Amino acid sequence: AAAEVAAFEDEFAAAMGVPHACAVASGRDALCLIVAALGIVAGDEIVVPAYTLGELLPLLGGRGIVLVPADVDGDSYNVSVASVRAALSPRTRAVLAVHLLGAPCDVAGLCQLGVPLIEDCAHAPGASVAGRPVGSFGVAALFSLEANKALAAFGGGVLATRDAALAARVRAMLAGRPRGEWPAMKKMLLKWVEEALVRSPMYAPLARLMFGGG
Ligand SMILES: *Cc1c(COP(=O)(O)O)cnc(C)c1O
Repeated sequence: AAAEVAAFEDEFAAAMGVPHACAVASGRDALCLIVAALGIVAGDEIVVPAYTLGELLPLLGGRGIVLVPADVDGDSYNVSVASVRAALSPRTRAVLAVHLLGAPCDVAGLCQLGVPLIEDCAHAPGASVAGRPVGSFGVAALFSLEANKALAAFGGGVLATRDAALAARVRAMLAGRPRGEWPAMKKMLLKWVEEALVRSPMYAPLARLMFGGG
């Protein structure tokens, strides 16, 4: 299995135009690993999109990292260079920008701001700007392989980076994790139940109950 994962990582990296890719548990896992590998700690600031997956923010805020929202553009709902620049401070350690619904944000412009850019490519595998794949512009990128994402692999995520030192730090963190078949099996089973539920006729009334808000 290790050889298969390594082959997948190499293919993924080549497709996304970066030298390094690490298969991880989820897009969220990739984000946490990137932040840790960048040495971002409590009290540091990260500029985040004012509109993104809500669950991402407590992962960072819970570590004491100060989240500074950058407003989104009314047309693309992505952050802009101007809105990110307005959110920068001397304590800013990184900018997290999402390519919402697969539409790239102004990555080239954001890279010029002089702060490490983390690209959230959960919606955007295969999207490109002037022929260059998103995920290859910033210091590192996160991809999601969840069942409800554009590139679904029944769960999982990928951390991509062009920074060899950052990739090595991530691999060292991954090597320190306990390994076992059961957590992966459990996740697969839960995903299977979730998928079966979402695709069943029971889901519509259930979703109305959970997300309807009256
Ligand atoms: C789904 C998603 C993530 C995280 O992916 P998971 O694999 O579910 O952790 C990150 N950012 C955005 C914008 C997403 O939609």
